[in-house]
Amino acid sequence: MKKIFLSMIALATIMVSCSDDQTANTNVEEQGADMSDFYLYTENTEKAAGGCFTMQKLNAQLDKDADLYSRMYDIEKKYRERSIAKKPGNGNGNGNGGGGNGGGGGGGTPPPTDNLGVVSIPVYIHVVYSNNNENISDAQINSQMAVLNDDFRRANNDANQTPSTFAGVAADTEIQFTLAGVFRHSNSRTSWGTNDAVKGSYPPVTPSTHLNMWVCNIGGGILGYAQFPGGNSATDGVVMSPQYFGTTGYVAAPFDGGRTTTHEVGHYLNLRHIWGDGRCNRDDFVSDTPTSDRPNYGCPSFPTTHCRSTDMTMNYMDYTDDACMNMFTDGQKSRMRGVLIPGGARESLVN
Ligand SMILES: [Zn+2]
Repeated sequence: MKKIFLSMIALATIMVSCSDDQTANTNVEEQGADMSDFYLYTENTEKAAGGCFTMQKLNAQLDKDADLYSRMYDIEKKYRERSIAKKPGNGNGNGNGGGGNGGGGGGGTPPPTDNLGVVSIPVYIHVVYSNNNENISDAQINSQMAVLNDDFRRANNDANQTPSTFAGVAADTEIQFTLAGVFRHSNSRTSWGTNDAVKGSYPPVTPSTHLNMWVCNIGGGILGYAQFPGGNSATDGVVMSPQYFGTTGYVAAPFDGGRTTTHEVGHYLNLRHIWGDGRCNRDDFVSDTPTSDRPNYGCPSFPTTHCRSTDMTMNYMDYTDDACMNMFTDGQKSRMRGVLIPGGARESLVN
């Protein structure tokens, strides 16, 4: 969400200062990635109900796991260093303006590319049910897999709904998913909450090589939650409630388009919420997503403006209705692939 006006402020700062500032900025780059805007703890300002619980979950995990912060910091630093190394010219700084208020992103411009080509991630699905509805059908599972692949490959039918303002950065992530197995578990528990109880009862299967998904009733109005790269392997994966999984069968509007899973898998591959979970100066560490200071809900009219820029409300990492989402960006693609490349935190997912 590095945005033009902040870059202009940074530029103006340089212009009104002496030329030493430019020298200092160059030195920062030579020393490595600027991590001054990095953050993990969030303010938890948004209501959890009706949304995704991933960031609240992360806060709780950071409290319990003393090393988690440094593991995630290192993943971020490695990604930013690679972005700097890949940046052509390397002359304009990475947009952070030498630190400051953290409006800049970690990604270079344009985002770095890699040589992996199309990558395929195998998926295990754990269906945990207390009644027949929650024991979702194979057809419902397959409908979710289809949405996931269409969304990540930009092959979805509503890709043409992306406004022209953003169409230029809309990405085929060249990441796709194959169903490797479904495990069904009957359990009298009717609500599993967000404390990973379901993963304790039904642990992930080979999480280093497979994306594990649990489909169970979470409760509390929570659609789903994910674990970022760097987390504990014993709880690695994504969790969705069955009503928000797939497009047919036991699904509930307006989250019956399979995009809760697209969103959670985005987190699993290191994407943050598009508004950065904070005020205008909080970033999602993606250079081609606009800044915002809040999630959007429902199906917003275009343009919707916050923080002096037009929100990308149709991005999968916002909170809008499934029918009104249709894109990842090139920068998000780069960020996700950054954990899949050799040396990345999730490289072992790639066959
Ligand atoms: Zn989320």
